[in-house]
Amino acid sequence: MRIVDLRSDTVTQPSEEMRQAIATAELGDDVYGEDPTVNALENMASEMLGKEAGLLVTSGTMGNFVSILAQCERGQEIILGEQTHIYNAEGGGASTLGGVAFHPIPNTNIGTLDLNQVENAVRFGNIHWSPTAMVAIENTQNACGGIPITPSYMSDLSKIAKSNGLRVHVDGARLFNAAVCLETPASELVKDADTVTFCLSKGLSAPVGSIVCGDKTTIAKAREWRKTLGAGMRQAGIIAAAGIVALNTMIERLSDDHANAKRLAKGLNSIPGFSIDPESVKTNLVFAEPPEAPYDLINQINNRGVLINARPGGTWRLTTHYGITSEDVDYAIDVIKSEAVS
Ligand SMILES: *Cc1c(COP(=O)(O)O)cnc(C)c1O
Repeated sequence: MRIVDLRSDTVTQPSEEMRQAIATAELGDDVYGEDPTVNALENMASEMLGKEAGLLVTSGTMGNFVSILAQCERGQEIILGEQTHIYNAEGGGASTLGGVAFHPIPNTNIGTLDLNQVENAVRFGNIHWSPTAMVAIENTQNACGGIPITPSYMSDLSKIAKSNGLRVHVDGARLFNAAVCLETPASELVKDADTVTFCLSKGLSAPVGSIVCGDKTTIAKAREWRKTLGAGMRQAGIIAAAGIVALNTMIERLSDDHANAKRLAKGLNSIPGFSIDPESVKTNLVFAEPPEAPYDLINQINNRGVLINARPGGTWRLTTHYGITSEDVDYAIDVIKSEAVS
């Protein structure tokens, strides 16, 4: 059966060039700082993001976690959006394991945090409060539609953060999708951030890994936390080799994913019962309300090999990525159409 897997860009397979690079990577013990391939990747990434230093971590979740632990004390808190991955999809790690409290505020419908609400959420100097240490924002903002956050917004947010002594963290799991969409270098998008994480393993299609970038002191602390958490890796050049190929070869092509996502949205919009504005699709994520059906539409579609995730509440999230062609998109639309109207 033909499979079109639109569940997530995490399902991407490494390219042939990545497999070659993995097979021939120069290796050393990275806990000793001696893996040349890891060092090359960390330098390359930090240069691309305009930061002093980089750190390879096992996942985006770990990248966010060590960024928070490196910059917040136990008993302090982070202001972040109610719809963010850190708050909703990381096992509450910063809080449950790190002792750092969450102070969630609503995301606007374009994924940002209202600046007045951020300012009002900052708190210090009262015995009842956990003092604010950080504000975190996602770029692209996944749950709000994969929306890219602009440099001008980041600049406004960071002014508020700086004037209150807060650190700014960007969860840029899909930062390069934002950069390609806005036709702006990733370094511009994060120039006002103290720390940034991005995933090598999503649209960039590497098999494993994320990167944290920031100033040297913060990254040194993040490195200590990574070790404490048991994720100091040895010959991790095996992973880093694919990451280097990802940064060299997989960024520009993200625009194909964005075009396919728009195509998917247009196709869905042509199916009775669906209503979705293709213009609202900016990157590689498509959110759609399924029509009310007297049967389990998503299961029927999944049974035919077109794989889609439903979020809590029933909204579908469809994701385009490396390995999904425009023909796959058309085929998926045909399958959804035939099940939705049958
Ligand atoms: C995927 C994702 C992460 C991290 O995911 P891992 O599976 O831990 O690599 C972090 N933030 C956002 C917004 C994500 O979409």
